[in-house]
Amino acid sequence: MDPGDLVLRYGDRVTHVERIPAREAVVEPWPDWVDPDVRAMYEAEGITALWGHQAEALRHVRAGRHTVISTGTASGKSLAFQAPALTDLAAGRTGSSLRGNRRPTVLYLAPTKALAADQLRRLAGASAFARPATVDGDNSREERAWARDHANYLLTNPDTLHHSILPGHARWARVLGGLTHVVVDECHHYRGVFGAHVAHVLRRLRRVCAHYGADPTFVLSSATVAEPEVFAGRLTGLDVVPVTDDASPHAARTIALWEPPILPGIDPGTAGVVRRSATSEAGELLTDLVIGRVRTLAFVRSRRGAEAVAATAQRRLHEVDPELVRRVATYRGGYLPEERRELEQRLRSGDLLGLASTNALELGIDVAGLDAVITVGFPGTRAALQQQFGRAGRSGRDSIGILVARDEPIDTYLVHHPEALLGTAVEASVFDPDNPYVLGPHLAAAAQEIPLTEGDFAMFGPRAAEGVAALEAAGWLRKRQAGWFWTKRERASDLADIRSSGGAPVQIVDALTGRLVGTVDGGSADSTVHEGAVYVHQGDVHVVDEYDVEHGVAMVHRADPEYSTSARSITEIAVTDTERTEQWGAAAMSFGSVEVVNQVVSYLKRSTSGGGILGEEVLELPQRSLQTKAVWWTLSAEAVAAAMEHDDVPGSAHAAEHAAIGLLPLLATCDRWDIGGVSTALHPDTGTLTVFVYDGYPGGAGFAERGYEMAATWLRVTRDAIVACACRDGCPSCVYSPKCGNGNEPLDKAGAVRLLDAFLVDAPQ
Ligand SMILES: [Zn+2]
Ligand SMILES: [Zn+2]
Repeated sequence: MDPGDLVLRYGDRVTHVERIPAREAVVEPWPDWVDPDVRAMYEAEGITALWGHQAEALRHVRAGRHTVISTGTASGKSLAFQAPALTDLAAGRTGSSLRGNRRPTVLYLAPTKALAADQLRRLAGASAFARPATVDGDNSREERAWARDHANYLLTNPDTLHHSILPGHARWARVLGGLTHVVVDECHHYRGVFGAHVAHVLRRLRRVCAHYGADPTFVLSSATVAEPEVFAGRLTGLDVVPVTDDASPHAARTIALWEPPILPGIDPGTAGVVRRSATSEAGELLTDLVIGRVRTLAFVRSRRGAEAVAATAQRRLHEVDPELVRRVATYRGGYLPEERRELEQRLRSGDLLGLASTNALELGIDVAGLDAVITVGFPGTRAALQQQFGRAGRSGRDSIGILVARDEPIDTYLVHHPEALLGTAVEASVFDPDNPYVLGPHLAAAAQEIPLTEGDFAMFGPRAAEGVAALEAAGWLRKRQAGWFWTKRERASDLADIRSSGGAPVQIVDALTGRLVGTVDGGSADSTVHEGAVYVHQGDVHVVDEYDVEHGVAMVHRADPEYSTSARSITEIAVTDTERTEQWGAAAMSFGSVEVVNQVVSYLKRSTSGGGILGEEVLELPQRSLQTKAVWWTLSAEAVAAAMEHDDVPGSAHAAEHAAIGLLPLLATCDRWDIGGVSTALHPDTGTLTVFVYDGYPGGAGFAERGYEMAATWLRVTRDAIVACACRDGCPSCVYSPKCGNGNEPLDKAGAVRLLDAFLVDAPQ
C-alpha cells in the first residue's frame, strides 16, 4: 500500500507521515595495522571495506582511547571492537605483544546471556588466534577451568564478574592481567539502579586489572541515545570518546504516526477511557495491509494484546476474503523450534502475510522479507522503536513503519511532535553511582578483593570516604596498615544483588499447583499483589487469594474476572535535604533527598466493560518508608492565585504531576513505573504549591535528577502533551494515570495547562 493511501483512507488518525530517504554508505578502506588474518576473516563475510563510523572507532580504539560507539541497529558496531581486540590477540600468537609476561586477553560483557551466545557464534571464524569461552552461571566446573587456563577472549556478564570472577580474581590473574580490551556491549541496558551497580562492578574490575598491571582500553557500544559519552564516562569512570555518525546504508522508509480516534458520544467513566483501543486500530490496519498483500509484522506489548490484534484482523478478513484468514498468525515466546522454523519459512515465502507478536520475537525467530511494521504503543526508547521498524525492508526495498499510540501521555506527545521521535535524541540513559545503598556493598566487595586505601576513594566517587567510614563503624571493615580489610567470613559481593531494584522480591505462587508464576519487586508488591488483586502476568490473569507480607509470598489462582483492580494509597513526602535549586521568577525547581511514606489502604474493583466502579475493599497493610531522590517544583501563592482564578488547584497540580510522570521517559530511559509523584496545593516543607516526582528506589536511580537537569524541556513537553490530547476532561492519553493511588481524583485538565504555563513564564529556553 502506498503510504499516501493511508492518509487518504484514515484521515486525521494519521497525524504525521515522513519519508526518510535512502542513505548511501560512506566507506573507508581497512587500515594497514589490522592483522591480515583478522581482515581475511571479515573479508570472507563480504566485508571488504569499512563504513565511516567503523573506521573512526578503529582509529580511536587503536590509539588506546576509551570509546563509545552509538550508531543505529545493524550498523556493524561489533566489528569496531572486535577487529582491534582480535588484532592484539593475533599478535599475541608470536609473543610480540606480551604485557609484562602475559599474553593479551579480551573481556566481553553483555547484559544478557543470549547476546553473549550470539557474540560467541560470530567469533567462529577467528579460531586461528582467538580462544573464546563463555563464563556465566551455566558452566560446568571443567568449562570454567578451561576458560581460566586457556581462553583469551572471555564472554561474560556483569553478574558473573561481580559474584565470581572479581571475588576469585587470583584464579583469573592470567586473564585479568593480560587484558588489552574490555568491551561493554549494549551498554544502554545499564540504567537506573542496575546501572549504578554495574558502574561499581566496572570500577572494581579496573582496580583488579591495575593490581595485575593491566590497563585495558574500554570500548562500549550503545543504541542511539543523547550524550553517549557522558553516559559511558559515568559508567566506566573514564574519559570516553563518542562515535555517533552512522555511515551505514539503508533503504528508504516511510514512517507514519497514528492516533486512535475519540469514540463518538462517550461520557468518560472513572477509568477515563474515551479513545478506541490501540489494539483494535492495529487489527484494522493489519487487515488492510494483508488485503494489499503487504507482509506485515505487528509488535504488541502483551500476549493478550497480540492475540487480540490477530483476532481482529482474522475476523475482518473473514468478511472480505476467507482465504486470507489463515495467512495471519500470532507469535509469542515459548514456541518449539520446529514451530518457529515453520513460521519463519511461511514469512519468507510470503505465505504468511500478517504476524502479531510480543517482543519475544527479539529472542525467537528470524524475520526476513517484511514490508511493514506496526508498533502498538511507544516501546520506551527511540532505539527500541528503530529496532522494531528495522525489521522491515527486505534487501534494500522501501518499507513502512507505523507507530500506533496507546493511551499514554508519552504516546500522545510523540504522535503530535514527530520531531521528538525523528530529530535529535533527547532521551538519556541515566543512573546515580553515588547512591549509598549501591555504593556501600561494592566498597565492601572491593575491600575483600584487595584492601581499600584512601587512594581508591577517587575511583568510587565523592561519597566513598563516607561509605567506608559507615562500613567500618558497622564492623564490616577494619583499618590496618595496608588499608581497610573485610572482616567477615561471608562473601562481601553477596551483599549486593545487582539485578534487584530495592526490597526483597515477592514470589507469586499458583495456589493449585504450587508453581512459581513470577516475582514482583518488593517496592510495588503492596499495590499489585494485595489480597483480592487481579494480577496479569505475561497476559495470563490471576486473582490473589492471600498475600503474606512477612514472607513475601502471594498465592494466586488463574481466573478471568470481569473486573480489574487498582490499589489506593496514602503517600506523604518530606524533604530531608535540598541539594540544588534553580529559581524561575515565581517558580523554583529543586532536587534533593526525600522520605516517602506510603501505605496501601484499599482497592477499587472496576468493570472491564465500561470502567464503572463495582466496589472498594479495605486492606490492612503496613506503612512503607523510602529514602530516595526527588525533583520538586514550587510556585508562589501569588502566582498560583493569579494563574488559577477558577480552577481546581489541587486537581490541576495532580493532573500536571501525572502527565509529567508519563513524559519523563522521553528524557530518561525509564518507565513511568520507576517513578512516583505527590502533588499538593500547600506542602509544609515548602510552604506553597508543590509537585514532587521521585525515584521509586532506595537512594535514587538518577531519573529525578535528569528531570531536574532538563526541567524546562520536561515541563514544556508535559504541557504540550496535555494540550495535544483532544479529550474534553482528561483521559489516559493525557492526565489519567494507571497507577494513581487516589483513583485519579481530583484532576483538572484545563487547570493543569494554566498551571504549567505559570511555571514556565520565566523558565530558561
Ligand atoms: Zn486526554
Ligand atoms: Zn494520582
